[in-house]
Amino acid sequence: MSRAEIVIDLAAIRHNVARLREHLRTPMMTVVKADGYGHGLVEVARAAREGGADWLGVASADEALALRAAGDEGRLLAWLIMPSEPAEELVAADIDVTAYTAADLEKFAAAGDALGRTPRVQLKVDTGLSRGGAAFADWSNLVALARILEAEGAIRVTGIWSHFSASEDPTDPISALQEKVFGEAVAIAEEAGLRPEVRHLANSAGALLRPSARLDLVRVGIATYGIDPAPGVEGSPWADLGLIPAMTVRAELALVKQIEAGAGVSYNHTWVAEEPTTVGLIPVGYAEGIQRRGGNRTEVWIDGARHPVRGTVCMDQMVVELGDASIEPGAEVILWGTGADGEPTAQDWAEASETIAYEVVTRIGGRMKRRYVDTDVDTEQGDDR
Ligand SMILES: *Cc1c(COP(=O)(O)O)cnc(C)c1O
Repeated sequence: MSRAEIVIDLAAIRHNVARLREHLRTPMMTVVKADGYGHGLVEVARAAREGGADWLGVASADEALALRAAGDEGRLLAWLIMPSEPAEELVAADIDVTAYTAADLEKFAAAGDALGRTPRVQLKVDTGLSRGGAAFADWSNLVALARILEAEGAIRVTGIWSHFSASEDPTDPISALQEKVFGEAVAIAEEAGLRPEVRHLANSAGALLRPSARLDLVRVGIATYGIDPAPGVEGSPWADLGLIPAMTVRAELALVKQIEAGAGVSYNHTWVAEEPTTVGLIPVGYAEGIQRRGGNRTEVWIDGARHPVRGTVCMDQMVVELGDASIEPGAEVILWGTGADGEPTAQDWAEASETIAYEVVTRIGGRMKRRYVDTDVDTEQGDDR
């Protein structure tokens, strides 16, 4: 066994994409940004394509180019290209790029001109998140310029899109408002003469909880990885979908020892043993992306049972109380996994650490190795990042 590793089940990714696509009945963009939410950019992308992903979505130019370098040839959208980043390579690699401003449009058009090809450009409108995208007040001017450039053959507008602010909360009226504003933005673009292939708005929670927001394409990230985007929401289809968490984080128990009553555990003694007990040492810490807030709040799975993490999570290590369970050094510790046998999940860690499961899985790494398994065909390959 490896001292500490992240095991990714590619069959789970494939299954989740196929299942989501079937349930949503909408073309699927699988979002693989941030190293596939900590699961591995290229490997997840490949499994997602096998599961039926029509598009892949990433934030940065580097992520998009890495997918092309790895051989992905399908439709691929990038949405966070910097003013300082040249566009030629992206256009040459047949990546759909996102424009927020007139300057973006001019840059993409110039890149197409230099290459003698027509860049595929999507326009993003801000419908209320106030993050990326053109402000609604600037939208008419942006689409007018896009239409002029398109008529000249300098670009092709392939999509119009926006992003929800609170799709995981069906009681928040902002989503309905954003849908309405998006409809208006699309109408303005169509009046200007644009005929985009795809109009899209929904992320995982939007796609699952708001059928009206599915439109031509859904951009599904977190659900791909088997993590519920909207835990605890009444009426959510999640429980019936049978999606499988793809990530298991495991480590070898470094040490087992007795401590006395009154012994304080880990830095600053935030936990003190009330009676003599046994503790074990887990060789991962916040340098691996373990949530430091998980100290004294989370549990890990050893030998078929949950055991509480005691004291502060340190940089390289953390302590688990074993009590009177007979557990030897070298035992397997599962920090989180599918939950199928009762082991903690990334969602459990998120709740205990007062964050969201997105952050729990995306941050994990550090010195841990990632290993891929495929429960369908039972092949394994290491990834020495
Ligand atoms: C990350 C992201 C998504 C995916 O969101 P999930 O909630 O993980 O499904 C979709 N669209 C955009 C613009 C994003 O940044």
